[in-house]
Amino acid sequence: MNKRLGRSLLVIMLLLVALAVVVSRLRVPARRLPPAVSPSPTGAAALRLTPDPYRSARSHMVEDQIAARGVKDRRVLEAMKNVPRHLFVPENYVDHAYDDTPLPIGFGQTISQPYIVAVMSELLEVEPGDRVLEIGTGSGYQAAVLAEMGMEVYTVEIIPELAQQAKERLRRLGYTQVHCLQADGYYGWADHAPYEAIIVTAAPDHVPQPLLQQLADGGRLVIPVGPQGSFQTLWKFVKQGEEVKAYEIMGVLFVPLVHEVR
Ligand code: SAH
Repeated sequence: MNKRLGRSLLVIMLLLVALAVVVSRLRVPARRLPPAVSPSPTGAAALRLTPDPYRSARSHMVEDQIAARGVKDRRVLEAMKNVPRHLFVPENYVDHAYDDTPLPIGFGQTISQPYIVAVMSELLEVEPGDRVLEIGTGSGYQAAVLAEMGMEVYTVEIIPELAQQAKERLRRLGYTQVHCLQADGYYGWADHAPYEAIIVTAAPDHVPQPLLQQLADGGRLVIPVGPQGSFQTLWKFVKQGEEVKAYEIMGVLFVPLVHEVR
């Protein structure tokens, strides 16, 4: 053996011994054994436990697009940090799910911009357990946000395919407190009225009377109203006995509420 090789081997051996000493001194953390039968969480809860590559994108969405623009309701912010928005958009838009924009969901419809979802959710001023009616289920995202905030949600969608897809998606994700109906939401969902809050996510050119009728005393209706294909105004109406107070919120752009006069 030549001298240089011998020296190299000696150095390697010394390094190995040093490594062995370091490893032996490392504290091995006590291992917790999993329970014999681990109840497997379902739906959104299960999703939260699996590695979620979009968690940080979602946090940024809430901080930069929503909280930074003045939405303060902690429950809205928390809910939107939790609902996996990327599972509510078509596959080819997944990488844009947390962008500051509405996205197409098929059938000429869109999932609303995250900021608008947040503003409307905040305006509803709901408490956990309140019953909320949504007109325009679309992807089911807004309904999921309200469910995550603790609401009992009744949601109506007029396009059969979207209604069916949203219903399946919400069930898969474990949102059992969302109830779906395929119908013309202009007429609300009388069976479960009155509602503490009603949110309309498509724009009619006037306020549908059935929705005001289905609102509880003290209830809030948040709705964009305006001409088709142009900007509309987002309104908040508060029912007080026979009176309805109107608050103008801001300009918005929604798909039209389609409605056939019965
Ligand atoms: N809230 C949805 C986005 C709504 S897009 C989401 O979070 O994804 C507006 C939806 O309203 C569309 O799906 C459209 O089909 C639906 N819509 C339009 N007119 C309607 C009506 N009269 N009744 C119920 N839904 C209607």
